[in-house]
Amino acid sequence: IFITIEGGEGAGKTTLIETLAHRLEANGLMVVKTREPGGIPIAEQIRGIILDRANTMMDPRTEALLYAAARRQHLVEKVEPALAQGAVVICDRFVDSSLAYQGHARGLGLEEVRAINAFAIHDTMPDLTLYLDITPEAGLRRIHASEEASREINRLDLEALSFHQLVREGYLQLYQSEPERIVKLDAEQPKTALAEAAWTAICRRLEE
Ligand code: C5P
Ligand code: MG
Repeated sequence: IFITIEGGEGAGKTTLIETLAHRLEANGLMVVKTREPGGIPIAEQIRGIILDRANTMMDPRTEALLYAAARRQHLVEKVEPALAQGAVVICDRFVDSSLAYQGHARGLGLEEVRAINAFAIHDTMPDLTLYLDITPEAGLRRIHASEEASREINRLDLEALSFHQLVREGYLQLYQSEPERIVKLDAEQPKTALAEAAWTAICRRLEE
């Protein structure tokens, strides 16, 4: 089963993934945690190019193609083999990120971004997507509150609030168009309640 976690900045994706992975493992399941862009060396290198604070001139289509390229390599090298072995794969971001960020917020259009991603992933779509919904204000407040050494601050974190509002709007539209695959969770609730709601959604999907 292929699970993806989506959401804007400061939604708590990373923390939630840790909690869910432990719980799945405690239930005897094989779990592979990974992230996009990245997860394997080639895709981590592409991530470095995309997120480099020095690359202020990056064209939006170049950016979209780099995300799709990283996604392709990560999928064939890591996600698909893990799924074939029967693992539960939990991935921090996937194609919905490209649709919300590049398609909607950057204005490239959903259809164009879908098209390049269709080339990259064929029809491998998540069985379940947990969308962590948070207002950009609350998300950015969390990031700034935790400007701890461990969090990478990259050129894309420095986008204006209006950009993050568009990202959220993009996600909400995706959720409305695919409410069976995408489960929307309130990411402003306490961590334990969020993890519980996410767990319920996963169990429901595992039982299907
Ligand atoms: O998930 P994470 O916070 O590590 O994402 C890294 C950065 O890449 C974030 O700043 C996010 O806004 C950005 N991003 C993007 N378009 C995507 C995926 C991520 O702008 N398709
Ligand atoms: Mg993160």
